[in-house]
Amino acid sequence: MTETLVDATNHQRISQLGERVLSGGKISRDEALFLFNLEDSADVFDLLSWANRIREHFKGNKIHLCSIVNAKAGACSENCSFCAQSSFYQTGAPKYGFVDPEPVAEAGEEAQKNGVTAVGLVAAWKGLNEGPMLDEICARVAEMKAAGKTRPDVSLGIIKSQKVADRLKEAGVECYGHNLESSRRFFPQTCTTHTFEDRLQTISHLKKAGIKICSGGIIGMGETREDRCDLAFELKAIGANVVPVNILNPIPGTPFEKNPPLPVLEILKTIACFRFILPRQEIMIAGGRTVNLRDAQSMIFMAGASALMVGNYLTTLNQPVEKDLQMLKDLGLDPSWDSHGFSDQEETGCGCGKTGCEPEVVAV
Ligand code: SF4
Repeated sequence: MTETLVDATNHQRISQLGERVLSGGKISRDEALFLFNLEDSADVFDLLSWANRIREHFKGNKIHLCSIVNAKAGACSENCSFCAQSSFYQTGAPKYGFVDPEPVAEAGEEAQKNGVTAVGLVAAWKGLNEGPMLDEICARVAEMKAAGKTRPDVSLGIIKSQKVADRLKEAGVECYGHNLESSRRFFPQTCTTHTFEDRLQTISHLKKAGIKICSGGIIGMGETREDRCDLAFELKAIGANVVPVNILNPIPGTPFEKNPPLPVLEILKTIACFRFILPRQEIMIAGGRTVNLRDAQSMIFMAGASALMVGNYLTTLNQPVEKDLQMLKDLGLDPSWDSHGFSDQEETGCGCGKTGCEPEVVAV
């Protein structure tokens, strides 16, 4: 990116789009691509300031905090090219079977102590079928729900049957993590052992069961800006409630081990573009934050992020929770996100900005 004064034409166009989103309107794919393709740092900072206004308008100063527990680690049958837990690659990541109740209960207590809204049980496997493992997971979720410390979320891979989704809902799962990873076009370059359609089908079962959707992707895998833009529109179409943006942290031994890091401004610009496309969603910055953004981590909120993954990631370390909480305090942001069931994401119209307009029905 080059450094120049704000381009007056770009400034005007960014402002028009920002005003439209603020008043409940939407931007088109072409308009979003114009934002993704901004190059000058002055224009990018202009974009960030609008993304910040949009975040404040729709989300206030509340920041939704989540953490995860690796409930079953390593030896995964899938070949996701970014993942340390795939059995296709030698990465030295830990391997163990499904965890006992104690570590899960401890994670819930730790989360409550730090004001973390949700703890997600994450399992490294292809997916979940009916059987003893589903029973065990439902038991863990029910225990977490009964303890009342945090919202019990899960991320358990592909679900092929509606019954499984319904059982999870009955056990108390409110939100299910299932990333689309990247655009439909780029997905086959990240994984060939399952498909983008498998992921959409899983999300469809979850939505029918009444479970909220946490779905986002990873940037920095070699995808284009168009791919990032199309991922954001796919996430809008599926009605994702929480949108995790992970930034690739290349793991030695995986096919993406030598991927060059994305420039910091490119990462912040991507977050801002997501905020323009998904103004009401929780945009959560997750894996790869510390290593890729370094001292610029606090800029994610200026770029429109309204949620943060805290604590360690599945196979890599994050900065200490205390440091994140201090960062929020320093910025006047409030981590006490109340459990309002994501009702602030409901649109009151089609986005045309006219009062009295009926909500748009989004198909999955
Ligand atoms: S991302 Fe999930 S499905 Fe893919 S290899 Fe890793 S653990 Fe398995």
